[in-house]
Amino acid sequence: MAIIDIKGITKSYWIGKEKEELKILKGIDLEIEEGEFVAIMGPSGSGKSTLMQILGLLDRPTAGTYLLTGLDVSQLSDDEGAAIRSKTIGFIFQMFNLLARTSALDNVILPMIYSAVPNREERARELLKDVGLTDRMLHKPNELSGGQQQRVAIARALVNRPRILFADEPTGNLASDQAEDILRQLELLNKSGITVIMVTHEQDIAEHARRIIKLKDGVVVSDDAGHSQRGSKSVQTLAVKPKITAAAPSRPSVPVSLSQFKEYGGSAIRAMASNKVRSALSMLGILIGVAAVIAMLAVGQGAQKAIESRIASLGSNLLMIRPESPNVGGVRSASGSVSRLTLDDVKLVSSVPHVVRAEGNVQGNAQVVYGAKNANTQVTGATPLYASMRNSMPYYGRFFTDQEDQRKERVVLLGQTVINNLFGKENPVDKIIKLNRINFKVIGVLPIKGSTGFRDQDDMALIPLNTAMKRAFGMIYLNTIFVECDKGENIPQVMADIKALMRRKHHLPDYKDDDFEIRNMADLQAALSGTTQTFTLLLGIVAAISLLVGGIGIMNIMLVSVSERTREIGLRKAVGAPRRAILSQFLIESAVLSTLGGICGIIFGVSVSLFLSKFAGWAAVVSMDSVLLAFIFSASVGVLFGFWPARKASLLSPIEALRYE
Ligand code: ADP
Ligand code: MG
Repeated sequence: MAIIDIKGITKSYWIGKEKEELKILKGIDLEIEEGEFVAIMGPSGSGKSTLMQILGLLDRPTAGTYLLTGLDVSQLSDDEGAAIRSKTIGFIFQMFNLLARTSALDNVILPMIYSAVPNREERARELLKDVGLTDRMLHKPNELSGGQQQRVAIARALVNRPRILFADEPTGNLASDQAEDILRQLELLNKSGITVIMVTHEQDIAEHARRIIKLKDGVVVSDDAGHSQRGSKSVQTLAVKPKITAAAPSRPSVPVSLSQFKEYGGSAIRAMASNKVRSALSMLGILIGVAAVIAMLAVGQGAQKAIESRIASLGSNLLMIRPESPNVGGVRSASGSVSRLTLDDVKLVSSVPHVVRAEGNVQGNAQVVYGAKNANTQVTGATPLYASMRNSMPYYGRFFTDQEDQRKERVVLLGQTVINNLFGKENPVDKIIKLNRINFKVIGVLPIKGSTGFRDQDDMALIPLNTAMKRAFGMIYLNTIFVECDKGENIPQVMADIKALMRRKHHLPDYKDDDFEIRNMADLQAALSGTTQTFTLLLGIVAAISLLVGGIGIMNIMLVSVSERTREIGLRKAVGAPRRAILSQFLIESAVLSTLGGICGIIFGVSVSLFLSKFAGWAAVVSMDSVLLAFIFSASVGVLFGFWPARKASLLSPIEALRYE
């Protein structure tokens, strides 16, 4: 029985938009016996490589039957083909087709990954020794000469003990002395019992074979089986011992076992390690995407929290009443007609139901002087209620008392900014300062409130109301009345009641507008937190954009490497990798890169948030949501774009993938 038996094999390509049929092989019948050494000759473009690839199961014929070792292989599935390639066929290419950035040893080990051969490294070393590369095992392809690369390719073709060796112009890219060497190796292998089929277009190379088949325009024009081999005498001078036997190793039939998974994981790790720059770049894309989102959202939420707590420090459930000049016919009247708020008004609003307490304030600017230093600050006159209503218990020193207020005592509490300006590090309590040229004793330090964004709330001095009205400023009317309600939900009711009461008290007829203004501090709080929400939203959008840009970066780097990877996939398939092996490898590879990149991104993003918050004085709020969102998005982009091109390539025939540009 012939080892190869083909009948009526044709191959056509359909070219261009019109799908014009291009017949490359036009019906080829051929029988090759086990142990033959056949040369296929013919001019360039006659279809030699095409025929060889069909014989080697790297490509499929358009029509015809193919019996390989008696088995019909014309209708095999992808993986069945891979299994037969793995155990029966060895292939040597004109372009060597070694994995770049991978040592000679690992290149030779490659086919054994997919055939579960034990003691791989030992076997690879032995074969590399046989082809005379003992001292080049750890060299990478770009560190080897053409002849050496082809010898690595021969060793690789032999690791699974094939019965047939295909060589497509194995010497086409070599200098003549190297070519001789390769040919002698092939002769030797043939002597050991392996069927060798070699394509060449040079007569003197074909002479090494025992049978020469000539192709022209897709048909066999001559088949010279009586040809006698030349140069066989030189065989004895070679060091290679014909120890390779044609026994085919058995192949495990379990779909994906744990050991296979480890195997594919191993090749994923090796592929990543041998393409460090590419791996690093893909990781970088994910890292930046994840880090940007985490940092942006953390800073945004931190800022929001900070502003919210500052707003809360203003006091809660507060209403603020201010005088306002009434609008007459839509025109604001002259400042002389500004209404007046009095201490009586304070008593009046205190009696409104749901009002807990009310307190009147006056405000003015004053020059404060201590020693040689002076500053201009806002001075507020208030009653002792101020401390609890406005969250302003002094954190150092004490507040003034009702008595001090009644007696118009010259005592003052200072905000932190004033203290910094006047005292620096000095303790201000019990010091005497001048306020509008009047001596005041500092009795306490107001708590730090920060800035609302409009005004530095710490740039202030607080003195008793009566002192302010009668000594410091000489005022008879109040600037503001603060009213505290018992509950937030009663605020609208209280506002309406106060409004009615005040209008009556101020004798305002219906056609006149209010001469006062009631402001709900909760509204102000809502307005401010609305602003910070917008701010966070904005940062969120920027973060989403960086995530997108990060994703596009990952996609690019993955897609750019596709042509290289497609050839790698073609090669792996050619040496017997089933589809699931390819897919597992690439899935593991992109998952590992994405996860590593994601973890680095989380670490980096959190550090940046911490740094920024320290720098900006905010508490960073790294939310679990943003971490998860960023990680899942980037990781899925990484896996998708790492895996999708690989899946596409794995659907190509090995030869299509190998030819991919
Ligand atoms: P050679 O005998 O030099 O090895 P090949 O078998 O490589 O020739 O190619 C035979 C012919 O098939 C050439 O004319 C080539 O242009 C054509 N050919 C090969 N591959 C393809 C393809 N994928 N699509 C279209 N034409 C192809
Ligand atoms: Mg060719």
